[in-house]
Amino acid sequence: MKLHEYQAKGVFAEAGLPTPESELADSADAAVEAAERIGYPVAIKAQVQVGGRGKAGGIELADDESEARSAAEDILGMDLKGLHVDRVLVEEAVDFTDELYVGVTMDRGEGRPVAMVSTRGGVDIEEVAAEDPDAIARGHVDPSFGMHPYQAREAVFEAGVDREVAMDVASVLTTLYRLWDDRDATEIEVNPLMVTTDGEVVAADAVMNIDDDALFRQEDLAEMEEEAAGDDLEAKANEYGFDYVRLSGNVGIIGNGAGLVMTTLDLVDYYGGEPANFLDIGGGAKAERVSNALDMVFSDENVDSVVFNIFGGITRGDEVARGINGALEGFDELPKPVVVRLAGTNAEEGMEILNTEVVEVEETLEAAVQRAVERAEEVDQ
Ligand code: GDP
Ligand code: MN
Repeated sequence: MKLHEYQAKGVFAEAGLPTPESELADSADAAVEAAERIGYPVAIKAQVQVGGRGKAGGIELADDESEARSAAEDILGMDLKGLHVDRVLVEEAVDFTDELYVGVTMDRGEGRPVAMVSTRGGVDIEEVAAEDPDAIARGHVDPSFGMHPYQAREAVFEAGVDREVAMDVASVLTTLYRLWDDRDATEIEVNPLMVTTDGEVVAADAVMNIDDDALFRQEDLAEMEEEAAGDDLEAKANEYGFDYVRLSGNVGIIGNGAGLVMTTLDLVDYYGGEPANFLDIGGGAKAERVSNALDMVFSDENVDSVVFNIFGGITRGDEVARGINGALEGFDELPKPVVVRLAGTNAEEGMEILNTEVVEVEETLEAAVQRAVERAEEVDQ
């Protein structure tokens, strides 16, 4: 689970990390009111789960009321890398001299958490890591002892942080490590950690990802989940209990079993199509799960056709067929063409039950995938 910037900053502030004063707003009026309370200049920042908002136009600075209003109007409602912006964070603008990077994540190669510091903050740190890996100082931590203050100082000095703020940065780093550990984070990143003209440090941005399997013991963070979900389809998948991954193509894919879905995905690619999603409805899929799955791909506007690939083991072909028929009853006209391939237990019964006036049926997986790819191309034209 990925927290929004404003949520992560709330967690940071509670842990005693320096964060700018800020308020969330969902309209231009509310943004202006927040700015008046905070005092100009302010930064107005889109609250969507993507990096690089600055470059994409999702952050504007405002010196007065009219600038704040027009910035909020620009940003609210905009489409930022495919996500709709419906809230902005209005934040006291920071006057800075330097932008640092600090973060904590798991180094799987070393099998230990690693704290990172760089003076090349404010830009995409992956780019820095690729171009100039030495520009990032790393300190590995033994999780049974936690991060010792000397380890934080070592990393900060190795990174070449200015002496005036080095101790403050080191203390931010130890707090971040403690948060990472206490809050079951998989990743925490402050980019940039700004050095202000007054010689202080402040977390101008905040990324915090929480291990989903630990949410049961992070109740306050789990409560933030609904708001953090951001993506309607992913929220829907959570509700239905599906494993669902959104992809960039237009051929919707439903199957039972991760391996079977992966194979279907590969075949779609092989036959020149592009998968729109990965959706595994699991074993023993009953009619209701099948209609929920169809509901999901139908409500994905990127999907132009659907291939439904079921291998009946525990999941019986007749159950699936009833599920498909049931799901389709609600539509006068099918929103997108659906091609079904049933194999295994009760496959013949299933094919007989299927309402072939609305869905297309193929006996082999290859034929079903090819047909779905063709249908998607037709819609695309
Ligand atoms: P991201 O692009 O989504 O990572 O968003 P950030 O919060 O990291 O902001 C990107 C850039 O916007 C920063 O590196 C700054 O250069 C600029 N920025 C953000 N907040 C402020 C601010 O309060 N004052 C100033 N002057 N610039 C800011
Ligand atoms: Mn950032």
